[in-house]
Amino acid sequence: MRLSRYFLPTLREVPKEAEIISHQLMLRAGMIKQQAAGSYSWLPMGFKVLNKIVRIIEEEQARSGAVQLLMPTLQSADLWRESGRYDAYGKEMLRFKDRHERDMLYGPTNEEMITDIFRTYVKSYKDVPLNLYHIQWKFRDEVRPRFGTMRSREFLMKDGYSFDVDEAAAVRAYHRVFVSYLRTFARLGLTAIPMRADTGPIGGDLSHEFIILAETGESQVFCHSDILEKPIPAVDTDFDSDLSAVFADWTSLYAATEEMVDQAAYEAAVPADKRVSARGIEVGHIFYFGTKYSEPMKANVTGPDGKDAPVHMGSYGIGPSRLVPALIEAFHDDAGIVWPVSVAPFEAILINLKAGDAATDAACGALYAEFQAAGIDVLYDDRDAGAGQKFANADLIGIPYQLILGPRGLREGQAEIKHRKSGERETLPIDAAVARIKSLIEPQRLDQI
Ligand code: ATP
Ligand code: MG
Repeated sequence: MRLSRYFLPTLREVPKEAEIISHQLMLRAGMIKQQAAGSYSWLPMGFKVLNKIVRIIEEEQARSGAVQLLMPTLQSADLWRESGRYDAYGKEMLRFKDRHERDMLYGPTNEEMITDIFRTYVKSYKDVPLNLYHIQWKFRDEVRPRFGTMRSREFLMKDGYSFDVDEAAAVRAYHRVFVSYLRTFARLGLTAIPMRADTGPIGGDLSHEFIILAETGESQVFCHSDILEKPIPAVDTDFDSDLSAVFADWTSLYAATEEMVDQAAYEAAVPADKRVSARGIEVGHIFYFGTKYSEPMKANVTGPDGKDAPVHMGSYGIGPSRLVPALIEAFHDDAGIVWPVSVAPFEAILINLKAGDAATDAACGALYAEFQAAGIDVLYDDRDAGAGQKFANADLIGIPYQLILGPRGLREGQAEIKHRKSGERETLPIDAAVARIKSLIEPQRLDQI
């Protein structure tokens, strides 16, 4: 992509309305624009990062045997009356009437709708296990939308729902999602700590939140520091795998949020030098809730014994539009964002120090073509602007590798690579530069764990 033809409205000043660094940087880097309280447009570069996150989620969902569909954002109130949640949900739910005076709502979550889909088609134990998910916009009229897309009113959620014949099978499904979430967050470059959690309005009895540590996090967390070092299990997460041992291993180390922490138990379980008490951001939340929805909504399956029984369900959420700022909270420095390669909006930026100079333009044009041929997602800063502005801009938007070329380098046959994260610089022959960047990027793409 040529920057001269792109839409990247960066800001020099720190916007006053933004309290936390990720919100400031998302506005300054031209990723989002606020449209109303808790409502944002995703500008091209922000949207690109959001989509990279979505793609990683989709890959790990597919690997774990989950199947993607798409449900509407608008729902009929009748479904929620069936489950009993229409009155219980409260003011976070945006309610309205259509032209026929029918009660409608903008979905804050989809347990009811997916249960309705399931009961329409699935009748037998032979057709489960099933794990269906979608990635769709949600609306929750949050009391205090804040921190940009970290807590917005309209936000993107991956929400998945598992269906199993009995509790034992449903708990196995829960374990699989648990492990697949560990993998998903690791591929995003994040260390997410699973914490035993309250089930809240979703209900049920088994729940974990996945939390990343950040000073600006909304909740206080307490955990054993070894969790932060644990290698991500390289296991098969597909339907047939029993991941209870991995689950047991991960949950044997103490981790709890402020709502659930039992200070005495925490101190008994974790030696003083291993205690981590820090702020954290919830990026995912999973629940097993048994027959809470299937029973009132009559989503039954016939078991091997010929008897009908409500199907056992779980639900599993990840917030892609919250993950963008969460990643920035984890990866930034004084100059701007420092994207991990796996989610960077572009993997490399090519900086032409003298756009308009025929020889430099030709050499940079050739490098740009070489990047594309090498399959590297590159942004080419071909604008007629000063070097200082280009460097500051490249640092601000956080592209992992900068390839810098100007008339002097061209005369000497040398280009410069700047590693955004370490600040390290290397000078090398122009014709070796793209191959070098490719060799740096490839191992970090993390297609596999
Ligand atoms: P929170 O406690 O932060 O309000 P929640 O428990 O209400 O979250 P869930 O209903 O479990 O969240 O939703 C699943 C995921 O959706 C969360 O883990 C989070 O990543 C994301 N999410 C929830 N609410 C918001 C929001 N207002 N803005 C952005 N993302 C959100
Ligand atoms: Mg909430």
